[in-house]
Parts: sequence; structure tokens; C-alpha cells
Amino acid sequence: MADSPILLTPGPLTTSETVRRAMLRDWGSRDRDFIELNASVRRRLLAVAHAEASHVAVPMQGSGTFAVEAMLGTLVPASGKLLVLSNGAYGERMLTIASRHGRRAAAIRNPEREPNDVEELDRRLAGEPDITHVATVHCETTTGMRNPIERIAEVVARHGRSLLIDAMSAFGALSLDARSLPFDALAASSNKCLEGVPGVGFVLVRPEVLEKARGNAPSLALDLHDQHVAMEATGQWRFTPPTHVLAALHQALRELDAEGGVAGRAKRYRENLRILLEGMRAMEFEPLLPDDLQAPIIVTFRMPADPRFDFGSFYDRLHDKGFVIYPGKLTREPSFRIGCIGRIDAADMRRAVAAIRTTLQEMGVASGRPAPRPQGETVS
Ligand SMILES: *Cc1c(COP(=O)(O)O)cnc(C)c1O
Repeated sequence: MADSPILLTPGPLTTSETVRRAMLRDWGSRDRDFIELNASVRRRLLAVAHAEASHVAVPMQGSGTFAVEAMLGTLVPASGKLLVLSNGAYGERMLTIASRHGRRAAAIRNPEREPNDVEELDRRLAGEPDITHVATVHCETTTGMRNPIERIAEVVARHGRSLLIDAMSAFGALSLDARSLPFDALAASSNKCLEGVPGVGFVLVRPEVLEKARGNAPSLALDLHDQHVAMEATGQWRFTPPTHVLAALHQALRELDAEGGVAGRAKRYRENLRILLEGMRAMEFEPLLPDDLQAPIIVTFRMPADPRFDFGSFYDRLHDKGFVIYPGKLTREPSFRIGCIGRIDAADMRRAVAAIRTTLQEMGVASGRPAPRPQGETVS
């Protein structure tokens, strides 16, 4: 089997060999060893957000969207109304979920290049008392944007509403401290900044909020309340747990600790980001976002204008050199993305930049400079 490529994507990501090795034994789902491992994973997930005293961790089988859907479906009751702050595909996905659940929902939309609008949030909550819940995306992976989560949490708390966070691509890398940042629930998954393998998501939720959510969920499998009650009662999962994925996540969480927790991991990712931006700018590639809005998670680059630049060929040539990048997801302009997360370090990032430089030469592309923005389109 060929060596694993370096995944410069938003997940699944490059994992450590020790994380992959943790999957080499089988676990009985009712086994005492597995029950202990599962409890340890749940404790460690809470610790990542300093939420041991305020929240419980409820794991959910599936990819990250399953956890987001379980969070929204269980916590927003049929009588509630959800306000979603959306500046990308993942905000839109929460609106789609609410609509599938038949829940009343509204949106504050900002263009993909702008952060969530906190002043507008303040006005809407003041004027619309029927809004019960607010949802936002901590790092909007569509662009790599860091949304102003601290200010959002402050406004939502001041208005006495419930804040639900999609922290999928931020959890483990952008600090979020439940002791100072009020939120009712947060959803994330194993295979992003926690550097586990895909297959399990989880929701950190206040137990008193979950308690009141009994019977809300429009889904049997994605009922967070029932999942939690069953797990508390027996230590076991209601339905077949992703045993190997949890064993890998357990190892990944130990490695997060060994790296110095969120602060240590953030430091490595910021250095990855710095090397990537510096290297790409030297080739005249242009990131979509200004540096102050850019999270050290994934960078969106505008598509080069040179007609010899063909993204399909660029992607394939990088793949052949051992690097997997990611297509863009912007609605308005062509772009591609390069991630900074996963078990990759400065040396990997330098090799990635060098591979990109070689690839441009192979394609006869002199510069990564994008076409100028159309007149008047300084802000999208
Ligand atoms: C990855 C991601 C998700 C979940 O995506 P899945 O493909 O279901 O794992 C949700 N929200 C954000 C912000 C993400 O980055």
C-alpha cells in the first residue's frame, strides 16, 4: 500500500501513526474496557472546552452533520424559533436542517467575506422576542473565516436566548472556554482539529437544557436526550458504537494533551498557516480573507487568472506529489482551499509550498495572481 498522502483539507485529515494504530484491536461494545474508554473520551472532550462543571458530552455516531442535526433537532422545540447567523455553506446547512425538521427559522446572512453581524444580531433579538435560539459557526470552513464568537455569545446571553455553536472545524484549535463564554450547546467531530479518524461527532450541552428537551427530537437515532439518558444509565451506547473510531479518538485526545492542549495545537497550526501564506504570497496567490479574519484552519485562495492554470491538473499534479488539497466552496467566485490542520508540521507545510511551486513551473504558470475584482466589488 502506498504511503498516506498529506491531507491539506478540512477533514478527514492526516492522523498520527499512533492514532491509526489505536484501531488495531477489537472492542466489545458492552465490555468494561470499552465503557471506561468511552467515559474517558467524554471527560476529555469536556476538558478541551473547560466545560466539566457546566456541560455534558454526548457522542453521536456519524459525521459532523449528524451531531449538528442531533443538536438542532433535540434542542429547538416545535414551539421554538431559530435564528442562524450565516456567512457560508455550514450556516446554510443549519437552515436546511431546521427546515427539514419543520422548525421556524430566520437568518442573518452576510457575504462570505464578512464575519457574522453582531450589531444586527443585537437588533433582531431586541425586536423579535419569539426567537428562542441562535446558531452560528465558530470557524466557517467555507472560507476559513473566524466568526466573532465571544461577542455573539455576550449578545445572546444578554438577551436571555440559547446559543448553539457549530464548532466543527474549530474545536481543539481555537480556544473556547465555557467558564467565560456562555453557550448552551456546541457540536464538533472526531476528525478535524482533534486529529482523530472520521465516524463520530459529539455535542457538549448543559444538562439542564438537555433535560428539558425530552421528546423534542424528530428523529429516533439523532435524539441527543435519549442518547444521553441511555449512556448515563449504563455507560453504554444505545445503538452500535463506532468502537475503533472511539479508540482512535481516545488516543488523539491524549496526543492533544501531550501537545499542550488547545494552546499548543493552535501554535503549530498558526505556524503552518504562516508558512502557507508566506509561500503562496511569494507566488502571488491571493487569499480571500484579510489576515485578521483568517482562522489557522483552512485558507481560501482566489483562482489564478493565468489561462494555463487549470485547477484539475493542479490538483492531480499535487496529488501525485503526495499532497491533497481541496476545491473551493464559494458561491460567487472560483477558488480553492488549502488546510493547515491535522498531524502536519512546518516541514510538511514547506514541502507543500515547494510542491506547489514546482507544479506551477510544470504547468507554465508564472504567477498565482487572480483576476482583478470587478469594479466596485471591493466588498462582496
Ligand atoms: C466539517 C464541518 C461540518 C460537518 O461536516 P461533515 O461532512 O458532516 O463531517 C459542519 N460544520 C462545519 C463548520 C464543518 O467544517
